[in-house]
Amino acid sequence: MWAQSGSRDVSASSQTGTSSARARMLDKPRPGPHMPDMRATFDNSYSRLPARLFSPQTPVPVAAPALVTVNAPLARELGIDPGSITAEALSGNAIPEGATPIAQLYAGHQFGNWAGQLGDGRAVLLGEVIDTHGNRRDIQLKGSGRTPYSRGGDGRAWLGPVLREYVVSEAMAALGIPTTRALAALTTGETVYRETPLPGAILARVAASHIRVGTFQALASAGDTGGLQALTDHALARHAAGAEGALGLLEHTVAAQARLIADWMAVGFIHGVMNTDNMTVSGETIDYGPCAFMDAYHPATVFSSIDRGGRYAFQNQPDIALWNLAQLASALVPLIDPDQEAAVAAATDALDRFAPAFRAAWRARFAAKIGIATPRDGDAELIVRLLKSMSASGADFTNTFRALAEGDASAHVTEGWDDWAADWQARLAREPGDPAAIMRAANPAVIPRNHRIEQMIEAAVAGDFAPFHRLNAVLATPFEATPDSADYTRPPEPGEVVRQTFCGT
Ligand code: AMP
Ligand code: MG
Repeated sequence: MWAQSGSRDVSASSQTGTSSARARMLDKPRPGPHMPDMRATFDNSYSRLPARLFSPQTPVPVAAPALVTVNAPLARELGIDPGSITAEALSGNAIPEGATPIAQLYAGHQFGNWAGQLGDGRAVLLGEVIDTHGNRRDIQLKGSGRTPYSRGGDGRAWLGPVLREYVVSEAMAALGIPTTRALAALTTGETVYRETPLPGAILARVAASHIRVGTFQALASAGDTGGLQALTDHALARHAAGAEGALGLLEHTVAAQARLIADWMAVGFIHGVMNTDNMTVSGETIDYGPCAFMDAYHPATVFSSIDRGGRYAFQNQPDIALWNLAQLASALVPLIDPDQEAAVAAATDALDRFAPAFRAAWRARFAAKIGIATPRDGDAELIVRLLKSMSASGADFTNTFRALAEGDASAHVTEGWDDWAADWQARLAREPGDPAAIMRAANPAVIPRNHRIEQMIEAAVAGDFAPFHRLNAVLATPFEATPDSADYTRPPEPGEVVRQTFCGT
């Protein structure tokens, strides 16, 4: 009944004992017509899909929710008056009018092994809104308590990963890289227990959708072809207007992921846990766990403490993306063609487009990073030579490319700079346009460096949120070197180097 009606079960919030909080919310002056509140814009299409895909789930209330920050520009983009956002509404203690909270089903491969049903064990989708550009966006509460899919976990999150995801996802957005967004971070007033007691927190996350490769895998593994078809149609409508059928969705996802991984590589980003449940069909980066930006460039860099074999190392990301896309293809095979052999052949053709699409996107991104707007034959080799010299020199990835915009990275690239620089200058002489301007638009001055994130989390756990706010402010304009950002462009001192990152969710 829930799935069909699309309307909220009014008894849900009274069951949680929060009806008075909700009543308080509704007492507030109604926003004007240009600032509709959350209730006015919810339209929850996912909760109208077949019931297997989700479970109605009211967020489990928390003791004392308090907002750490609200992303006011994003709220406005969603048609929500930032001033109307309360800790109650985004902690789940009060359900906004029009929301139909659900936990979404998905499965997946973790580190290459089939793990079966995985989630979502610690997040609730409040619903969808249509943003000011006409795009449908999910609003999800991550850390909102147990769900029917929680397995052993408590469904909660602690402050560290919540602030990390807030900072890094917003930095990615400012870098122009497709990503889920952070609408708000909250503390819950509760303690969560990992290895030690830690402050509980919730992230209000916004996404084009939360449909993962693993969402399709969950239905395929259950043999639910009807559900698979409904999810495919839904995903096509949301993400691949103009594409047709399961093959069209696969082709669209292949292209979107090829571009995304090239985007990551061009800023030195390592996702860290590219399991199939952490890859979207929208092409947005999702699930910032043990992710990290490289300081010194080395292609084999791994940060995640649980990635012992280096499966998700920096340079492996394109291969892993293709591996994940092959799992999506397998799940979709029954929909592609009734003749299985023909379906597999078509899916294989679609997957074969990944490598050339990735190479083209990679070359375009890295060409811009050395000042070339229109790549030609030979440019990829020039880029690879620089990268090899950088890795031999232990050069800082971000600062080396930024120094190129000033024409001289010899202080960073100590191995083979002169030869490379001569060939580079000869190539730039044949290039129209202003290479320095191209480079300054392609090479960020500031990225969320690991040691800054660790310092920020440590301060926040001790009650000082000033570093969190400063970091967000500096990362909002990553291509501008300002006096404020100077200290954030510095690589870590030996004592500050972060060698491992942790899921720690
Ligand atoms: P991740 O690899 O971080 O994306 O996590 C994989 C899945 O593990 C999530 O989708 C959740 O369903 C589950 N999970 C992680 N942390 C928790 C938690 N604290 N409580 C319940 N489930 C969790
Ligand atoms: Mg995940």
